[in-house]
Amino acid sequence: MSAASSTGAGRPRVVVVGGGLAGLSAAVACADGGASVTLLEARPRLGGATWSFERRGLSFDNGQHVHLRCCNAYRSWLERLGTSHLAPFAGPLAIPVLRPRAGHAGSPTVAWIRRDSLPAPAHLGRSLLSYGHLGAADRLRLLPAALGLRRARLDDPRLDSETFGDWLSRHGQHDEAISRLWDLITLPTTNLRAAEVSLALAAKVFKTGLLTDRAAADIAWSQVPLAELHVEPARRLLEGLGADVRQRARVTEVALGEATGTEPARASGVVVDGELLHSDAVVLAVPHDAAAGLLPTRAFSDPSSLRGLGTVPIVNVHFVFDRQVMPYQMAAAIDSPIQFAFDRTPASGLEPSGAGQVLAISLSGADAEIGKSPQELIESQLGAVRALFPAASQAKVLDSVVTREHDATFRGVPGTRRLRLGPATGIANLALAGAWTDTGWPATMEGAVRSGQAAAEVALAAVGKRNVSVPRREEAVA
Ligand SMILES: Cc1cc2nc3c(=O)[nH]c(=O)nc-3n(C[C@H](O)[C@H](O)[C@H](O)COP(=O)(O)OP(=O)(O)OC[C@H]3O[C@@H](n4cnc5c(N)ncnc54)[C@H](O)[C@@H]3O)c2cc1C
Repeated sequence: MSAASSTGAGRPRVVVVGGGLAGLSAAVACADGGASVTLLEARPRLGGATWSFERRGLSFDNGQHVHLRCCNAYRSWLERLGTSHLAPFAGPLAIPVLRPRAGHAGSPTVAWIRRDSLPAPAHLGRSLLSYGHLGAADRLRLLPAALGLRRARLDDPRLDSETFGDWLSRHGQHDEAISRLWDLITLPTTNLRAAEVSLALAAKVFKTGLLTDRAAADIAWSQVPLAELHVEPARRLLEGLGADVRQRARVTEVALGEATGTEPARASGVVVDGELLHSDAVVLAVPHDAAAGLLPTRAFSDPSSLRGLGTVPIVNVHFVFDRQVMPYQMAAAIDSPIQFAFDRTPASGLEPSGAGQVLAISLSGADAEIGKSPQELIESQLGAVRALFPAASQAKVLDSVVTREHDATFRGVPGTRRLRLGPATGIANLALAGAWTDTGWPATMEGAVRSGQAAAEVALAAVGKRNVSVPRREEAVA
């Protein structure tokens, strides 16, 4: 093995491994803090779990990504990149929830999850009390459960010992209320249904997003491909800050220096393409299963335990129609194979002349769908689109494509909180980032950006520098 040096020029050298949102935000924070940064990404592209592709002249993302107004770190990140205007908020929270009629004749029944101008949590009261997909008794039972959730202490370790579904049942929620309301929130935010997800993660989502600040759950999503929103702008920013950004650079080892009698071992760099790249600090911003293979046991006694975090797939089915079929920007569905549908027409680059529409159907917690063939998925989703949107019956499908992410997020079941490591490790100059790390958030873009900034703080402290990245606005709920 030969040795090479990451460009230093008198500044401390930090190597960031992984070019997803966690690695990109760590790299920017380290460069801001005065380090000479090298970012190493194994794949031929940056962006990690957020990527875009071209097909027949249109742009698609690997999966629909949305964020909420409470995602302060991600929002500040977009502001730093100068692209927040490309992911505008779609007004105050208002989600039409569609249910196909029996026999699929005519328009679906619609109920809305929306907020009004009252302070939280009363801002949802009117919408929940009139939520027509549940009977009156179930609607009334929603309110005490929501208030019980609001009282949960997020730092209580017992929250991670039961599923949200069990907690909901104990708080008077019947199966119908769970599948027709609660799952509509837990699936897209935690990538699991209430029956499986840890109460700890669900409570974080509901408290932070829905029960504390009336505007926190306003939804935004990109009007351009994700590559244009936050991947290429991040690369340009990094290169402008003098960072060395390398793709097709798979790290196979974190190298350790010798411990001496007084000094514990420190990371001396990483091995990439069989070559040792020296650095003064390392940020490992790779998925948890990759971290399990790269973390030295001196950094964490049992790296293989990280594999216990598991993974959950997400599937998206994208349709290009010859006309507008969905009269909403986004919609949720119940009693249907569809979970959420998004109008992707502007982001795809299709002329917004009203002549066509691009839809992305997003299926979270997609254990049942991930093994199905593209044809099977397209057929079942097209049938469901036609059952919900009568205009689709007359419409021609110009193109359809399925994107499948087998390992979209970790599986946040009870007991996983203790497996989520913090940014600091047993080696002072080796820091961890990634949406799977212990941010308190589910695996999200927000969690990824937060984790990158926290890891940068550890790496910079190890080389005597400070994280000077724009401070985040504090989130509403600790
Ligand atoms: C289809 C889909 C839909 C989603 N929807 C949403 C949503 O609506 N809202 C939301 O907030 N979040 C959503 N998420 C989750 C969000 O995208 C992720 O949580 C976040 O992007 C993860 O970022 P990360 O940097 O932690 O990890 P990753 O993006 O996985 O990045 C890790 C990087 O490390 C690289 N790497 C691995 N091993 C090595 C190695 N040995 N050497 C060098 N590089 C290596 C990988 O190639 C990868 O690029 C979604 C995810 C998917 C897949």
